[in-house]
Amino acid sequence: MTIKAYGARAGNLPLEPLAITRRAPGEHDVQIDIAYCGVCHSDLHQVRSEWAGTLYPCVPGHEIVGRVSAVGAHVSSHKVGDLVGVGCIVDSCQHCAECDEGLENYCDHMVGTYNFPTPDAPGHTLGGYSQQIVVHERYVLHVRHPKEQLAAVAPLLCAGITTYSPLRHWKVGPGHKVGVVGIGGLGHMGIKLANAMGAHVVAFTTSESKREAAKALGAHEVVVSRNPEEMAVHAQSLDFILNTVAAPHDLDAFLTLLKRDGTMTLVGAPATPHPSPEVFNLIMKRRSLAGSMIGGIPETQEMLDFCAEHGIVADIEMIRADQVNEAYERMLKGDVKYRFVIDCASLGT
Ligand code: NAP
Ligand code: ZN
Repeated sequence: MTIKAYGARAGNLPLEPLAITRRAPGEHDVQIDIAYCGVCHSDLHQVRSEWAGTLYPCVPGHEIVGRVSAVGAHVSSHKVGDLVGVGCIVDSCQHCAECDEGLENYCDHMVGTYNFPTPDAPGHTLGGYSQQIVVHERYVLHVRHPKEQLAAVAPLLCAGITTYSPLRHWKVGPGHKVGVVGIGGLGHMGIKLANAMGAHVVAFTTSESKREAAKALGAHEVVVSRNPEEMAVHAQSLDFILNTVAAPHDLDAFLTLLKRDGTMTLVGAPATPHPSPEVFNLIMKRRSLAGSMIGGIPETQEMLDFCAEHGIVADIEMIRADQVNEAYERMLKGDVKYRFVIDCASLGT
């Protein structure tokens, strides 16, 4: 079926209206009418070819929520009318050790929601800045929030799981002092989730304007990281740091805030590398520098249910599809509190 979408024909061109096709649902497929799609910084990196290997036309978007409009004959977990979500993964090999453990995000054959090879036209996956998507049932999540919150649930599908998964993996909880660096789409979810898990949360921002705003999100303390005196107050005191910054920066300024045996996990994926940290800052206190990529499907469902139970959604600014180019410019300036979400009804009928 031909549907309307918003995407780019080349890395140096703005996003524009496109007509794309979706496959008819196969036996295990779920067809979803997309209501809303979040705007992740990864969309901008990919569509502008800041990361290697962008395939055009590129339709970004991996924070998808909507309603099931058709299911294949063998689909048992979803039915027409259900509120559902799709995140960054639409397929994987389904039989490796990672898939068996529900860590499809680390499968060598993971198929991302956009820019990955697929038998469907045009030969690579096309994301959620569109009216509809067809996905294997395994990768479709149940949304249990009230339907009025649907737009604000969309960012949980990437920003939510990308911050939830490392907080769980490194066992963040009561008694821990946790830093969240970069208060954008991911970081603001990191604050809400670490707070709900019972940690003492310190937000690190480069934006003076977010000092009070970060407290409203659930940060117990806020540090403007450009001020060395404010940073020094937290030296050797943090158990864990979640670093979401989308640009290369000085990692040592944060590594030195970790206690002995503390870990800083990078989830930000800048187009060019960070300067290498000073090795002595790691070895002197047995500190770890780690990374983490989104999360598996079972954990994504766990995160959505955790958020529904704790009343957690993203703070969003709704836009029309034709405002997405302007939204990218504002995201680069840190001028969004905290996630743009496209109303996909604005793509037309
Ligand atoms: P975002 O909304 O743009 O937030 C990034 C934040 O980083 C900004 O709000 C800003 O926070 C801070 N920042 C930006 N440029 C900076 C600079 N030059 N120096 C210091 N701080 C800077 O982006 P996002 O959607 O949260 O994504 C963040 C990064 O995570 C992106 O690189 C994205 O591709 C990546 N990502 C990774 C995964 C994964 O699986 N690992 C998943 C999704 C996204 P302050 O204003 O508070 O300083
Ligand atoms: Zn994302």
